[in-house]
Amino acid sequence: MSETVNTFEAQQQGRPTGPLVRGYEVIIGFETHAQLSTASKIFSRASTAFGAEPNTQACAVDLALPGTLPVMNKGAVERAIKLGLALGSHIAPRSVFARKNYFYPDLPKGYQISQFEIPVVQGGAVSFFVGEEQKTVRLVRAHLEEDAGKSLHEHEDFVGQSGIDLNRAGTPLLEIVTEPDMRSTAEAVAYAKELHKIVTWIGICDGNMQEGSFRCDANVSVRRPGEKLGTRREIKNLNSFKFMQQAIDYEIRWQIDEIEDGHKIEQATVLFDPDTGETRAMRAKEDSADYRYFPDPDLPPLVIAADWIERVKAEMPELPRAMAERYVRDHGLSEYDAAQLTQSAALAGYFDEAVKAGATPKLASNWITGEMARRLNAAEIGIEAAPVKAQQLAQLVKRIADGTLPNNAARQVFEALWTGEGSDVDAIIEAKDLKPMNDAGALDKILDEVIAKNAKNVEEYRGGKEKALNALVGQVMKASGGKANPAQVTELLKAKLA
Ligand code: ADP
Ligand code: MG
Repeated sequence: MSETVNTFEAQQQGRPTGPLVRGYEVIIGFETHAQLSTASKIFSRASTAFGAEPNTQACAVDLALPGTLPVMNKGAVERAIKLGLALGSHIAPRSVFARKNYFYPDLPKGYQISQFEIPVVQGGAVSFFVGEEQKTVRLVRAHLEEDAGKSLHEHEDFVGQSGIDLNRAGTPLLEIVTEPDMRSTAEAVAYAKELHKIVTWIGICDGNMQEGSFRCDANVSVRRPGEKLGTRREIKNLNSFKFMQQAIDYEIRWQIDEIEDGHKIEQATVLFDPDTGETRAMRAKEDSADYRYFPDPDLPPLVIAADWIERVKAEMPELPRAMAERYVRDHGLSEYDAAQLTQSAALAGYFDEAVKAGATPKLASNWITGEMARRLNAAEIGIEAAPVKAQQLAQLVKRIADGTLPNNAARQVFEALWTGEGSDVDAIIEAKDLKPMNDAGALDKILDEVIAKNAKNVEEYRGGKEKALNALVGQVMKASGGKANPAQVTELLKAKLA
């Protein structure tokens, strides 16, 4: 297994290629199953919709009735092409479907149609930030395959029996396989989040992890720095980022304990139990030789001509990284803010709409990544469901930019928009009497009173203590009920005390 260029030298010299846990280096590689968002299955016309009554969406092909033949769904291929384009991969002009043979009740054909020797997407990489540090994880491949059905063990209608639901059989999947490039749990979770963002951004997968549309297998091993790769165990079907983190952390601890106790790690497939927080071996890991792969004689090779790739490319949305670069370049945002705003297509779309409606980009960005993000988190909703619409935020930001709204007044307006107390920014300002104090006489009176009452601060300021002025500004703001403009107050005070 190859190493990245910058880690290769360290490995050769026996230096760690990542952070150590109790003196061990952690090695992680991912296999992710992304369910493709086609309306029908990969080789049949049955629906892929989630949640139907068992076995109502399995046609003759999915049931593997004799004489049926698979027909490739073009939409699934297009989605594979999109992923390849998004990740800078080679899109194979000719790839081959293969039969992966195994017996399981939820697999009526006795084999799964997958791709083996020649996958449709080859190479490529996913780049992302872990904190401040940029990481790149190389992909080995992404191949098209069909999902299997589902065994139901605890169904209320079949107590003491197992049922088979074949609705999921034939659902299109892309299995996305990385090199063992990750070196910590944090990096692995960040990779999974970035991949999740990309597949949902380009619209090839709905990303719903609870429904199993995006599930990750984490291959984990540990070694002493400089040693060759250790034996891995594969944690199957991680379908939440939280479980992913718990499972990998537990697995690392477990493997190190085993080795420290003098045991050897046996290659295995394990499951994470969220109730106990532990991973448990499910079966000894099969080798690919056990599956007796061979090219599927029912399907011709998948041929993708250059013009097909061009057509798909023309339909691709701007990718998050390109968009973030554009925000930095055109709007002068920081890399961090740009990365925050491009966490999802919906969030970026919201920002774009606010800017288009006349919001100052920097201010809009501050509000979206600040107050808005906090509220969304607390309410556990996405930006799509935000009660404050982009147009309204733009209106609010305009009133901040033109000096009408000081910060705390702006927050009150936001609050009113959020709770639905009002819907028009200017009307809210009017109703709540939030207009800044532009009655020069009244403000002047307040200034004089504050100066008179705070002789000590005045003296300190005149004695050269700049900070004392802040206390005076604060007093004026308070006396004005927050309606004075702090910048203006500062200027006026300085003039009066000069
Ligand atoms: P298989 O097809 O038998 O599952 P692969 O060679 O395709 O095996 O590897 C599957 C995944 O395991 C890949 O993501 C790869 O990066 C990862 N992997 C391979 N060896 C190791 C290792 N020693 N430690 C951690 N991950 C590994
Ligand atoms: Mg594999």
